[in-house]
Order: sequence, then C-alpha cells, then structure tokens
Amino acid sequence: MALDADQIAGTLAARGLRLTRQRRAVLDAVAEASSSVSPVQVFDAARVRCPELGLTTVYRTLELLSEIGALRRVHGPDHCEAFVPAGAAHGHTVVCSRCGRAMEFTECDMRAVVDAAARQTGFRITEHFLQLSGECPACGERAGRPHRAAADGA
Ligand SMILES: [Zn+2]
Ligand SMILES: [Zn+2]
Repeated sequence: MALDADQIAGTLAARGLRLTRQRRAVLDAVAEASSSVSPVQVFDAARVRCPELGLTTVYRTLELLSEIGALRRVHGPDHCEAFVPAGAAHGHTVVCSRCGRAMEFTECDMRAVVDAAARQTGFRITEHFLQLSGECPACGERAGRPHRAAADGA
C-alpha cells in the first residue's frame, strides 16, 4: 500500500514536526512490508537505512504516525501489536491469519451494529474500529482452496 510521504510531511508540519530521516525510515519500513509489521520488525527493517535508530524511537514514531492517520494499528497474526499503512481516512484492515498479509477495505456499513449498541447502552456512538482476519488468496491457493472470486471469474 502506497503512502504519500509529502502529505504525511505536511500533516506533521502542521503540528510543528518534521518528517525526519528516522521517521521516514519507520514510515518506509511499514509501507514497503507485504504484511502487517510489529515494532521489532520495523526496527530491523528501518535500521538498514538508518543505523542510529533506536527501538524507543521506533515505538514513538509508530505511535505518532498512527495518531496522524498515516498508519493503522492492527492485531498481527500472533495477536501482537502490528502496523499497516492507512490509505483511506476511514478504512479497516483485513489480515491473513496465515501469512500476515494485510489489505485495506473502505466499505463498511456498521449502522445496524452502531444502532444496536446505542440502543442497548444509551451511548452516542462516535467511532468504531474493526479488524477482520482470514485467509488471503495466496494462502488459500497454497492450501488448495482457490479464491472464490477468481474461480467465478469475477
Ligand atoms: Zn496469507
Ligand atoms: Zn468503518
């Protein structure tokens, strides 16, 4: 998933922050990964380009980039904290429970769930987080379960 570094730099600048070399290395490590990545995986990947990078900085940067909406926090395949690039302002992540591949989807109709929650609790619901997990097409094929959409030719 592509991330717009210029746009992210702009968002940071609006907060008086810069897209430093360290932050850029962390951002790239998440953007270039083919699956969701844990902070330690980001640390390993980003240090190739930025050897002075520390694990604490990685944690802080992941936190910051999630806060400004550039990254999304997800549960990785082992239910550890992991990160994926966030393409859309409001989107959700589906994570493959076999290989950790993450994809974003933006169509969510949560009205029925939100209405039910509001009715039951009396809360005014203002936000939701949703993550789905399953088996990606590649893992399905490897396991001899061809992707349905592909089999239908859809
Ligand atoms: Zn997979
Ligand atoms: Zn949603």
